[in-house]
Amino acid sequence: MNSSLIGKIEKAHRYAQEPERIRLDAIEATFHGGHDDYVVALKGGHWSCTCHTFASHSIGGTCSHIMAMQRILGTMLDEEAKYGAGDAVAAP
Ligand SMILES: [Zn+2]
Repeated sequence: MNSSLIGKIEKAHRYAQEPERIRLDAIEATFHGGHDDYVVALKGGHWSCTCHTFASHSIGGTCSHIMAMQRILGTMLDEEAKYGAGDAVAAP
């Protein structure tokens, strides 16, 4: 292994400890919910989910799957994506 590659690997280890360096702009994930699998997506700061709660707008355009993603991804989301979609629970 050459010294240049070793340097890159060391840098990657440091970066991996600093997730705030990363901002996720778009995501699509399969969320294994309590009853079914749902597709949760983030695009342009806006979340969507294929579950019934999200589709019905019953809690202001969010759902437990989106709220969980916001908690898990936390520092890697910009402010809009972190607290957006009417997530009153996670908002400061
Ligand atoms: Zn959902």
